Amino acid sequence: MKHRYDLLIVGGGMVGATIAAALGHTDLNIAVIDQAYPPPFVAGSEHDLRVSALSVASENIFKTLGVWDGIISRRACPYQRMKVWESDEQRAATEFVSQDIGADHLGFIVENRVIQLALLERLGQLENVDLICPAEIDDIDYSPGCSLIRLADGRELIGKLMVAADGGGSKVRMAAGIGVHSWDYDQHALVASVITAKPQQDITWQQFTPSGPRAFLPLSGHRASLVWYNHPAEVKRLLSLDSEAFIQALVTAFPDRLGALDTLLERGAFPLRRQHALQYVKEGVVLVGDAAHMINPLAGQGVNIGLLDAATLAEVLVDGHHSGLDMSELSLLQRYEQQRRHHNLMMMQLMDSFYRVFSNDVLPLKLLRNIGLGAAERFTPAKHRVMRFAMGLEGQLPALARGEPIGV
Ligand SMILES: Cc1cc2nc3c(=O)[nH]c(=O)nc-3n(C[C@H](O)[C@H](O)[C@H](O)COP(=O)(O)OP(=O)(O)OC[C@H]3O[C@@H](n4cnc5c(N)ncnc54)[C@H](O)[C@@H]3O)c2cc1C
Repeated sequence: MKHRYDLLIVGGGMVGATIAAALGHTDLNIAVIDQAYPPPFVAGSEHDLRVSALSVASENIFKTLGVWDGIISRRACPYQRMKVWESDEQRAATEFVSQDIGADHLGFIVENRVIQLALLERLGQLENVDLICPAEIDDIDYSPGCSLIRLADGRELIGKLMVAADGGGSKVRMAAGIGVHSWDYDQHALVASVITAKPQQDITWQQFTPSGPRAFLPLSGHRASLVWYNHPAEVKRLLSLDSEAFIQALVTAFPDRLGALDTLLERGAFPLRRQHALQYVKEGVVLVGDAAHMINPLAGQGVNIGLLDAATLAEVLVDGHHSGLDMSELSLLQRYEQQRRHHNLMMMQLMDSFYRVFSNDVLPLKLLRNIGLGAAERFTPAKHRVMRFAMGLEGQLPALARGEPIGV
């Protein structure tokens, strides 16, 4: 059986589902296809391993789309402070405090599943969106203006515009013949969720070391997510330790500020890759989120820039639709690429600079870094700008990220 749509969004993850939610009030006919529906959230259950630091810009997007209540009513942990240092926390650290710029908070730490569930719940309320999930894709046939997706159950979906929101290994991107520029970082991220002796905290902090940063992300209650960036072989060794030895290794390696750890709940490792699609658009196809770019997560920006892609694309499509343009038209899609590519590239390069400048033990560089961190602490205008940057509020923002609805 053949089903026709204006948009076929492949991937109902955080980014793909946001695009569908943003186009929910339009007369565009949309299908969102995902291979798996996330398990339901159970209040009081332990936190998932995968969490994201959501910027204020991302929060604005979700609030404007009516998704934020679904997130906050499940579980999210706000943070008001952010601290960064290298060797000397007492003398060469920079601490950012939301109050200094009159803000309630700098961001929220939220489980990825909670974000996705709130989004999918919202899609279920939208008449113009079909959520096809779980679905197994057999074949993707890219054809400008009328691409075809064959599902394993025999259904055939035809769409004017195919949206690749299916993550770093995007099959849509491959079907459209769009290449990538990519390399692996010589670090993996070892993520551990733990029970801390200290109660819920309002700070996220990161210590840079030559082998990679060590980061603390607060969760609700006595819970925290720790991220330990390290060489792949060392991460493998740490993962092979039993829970007790692993906790001991965490307490030894992480700064004293961490305090005592009661229990290890879960741990896992993620290889880190930098990847950028050679183009974001072709006639009848567009890439968003990790399908377009994967960046080093050391400053927690990946999904935040993906959500800005989603908000920008939705705005461009609504404008084009109002002007009578076809969704597949290249000139329309290029407006999206023009607004996002440069911004995403800058963010990738910034993360690379952090990675290169801090991941070494060269003495002159170390001195410069510590002088820099100490000076940054005293230079208020720069601190305020960095805070606004971390909150996703610097530069040109799409309407949804400013808290303004689109197309009405
Ligand atoms: C250790 C780590 C920590 C991170 N921390 C942060 C952070 O603090 N803040 C932040 O902003 N970012 C963070 N990131 C990055 C963030 O996780 C990603 O940028 C984000 O998940 C990308 O979202 P996405 O929707 O584009 O892709 P994905 O999350 O990969 O979602 C893709 C969706 O497509 C579906 N899919 C894939 N293939 C198919 C198929 N063939 N058929 C049907 N469906 C398919 C999947 O099921 C999934 O639902 C972190 C990343 C890592 C590795």
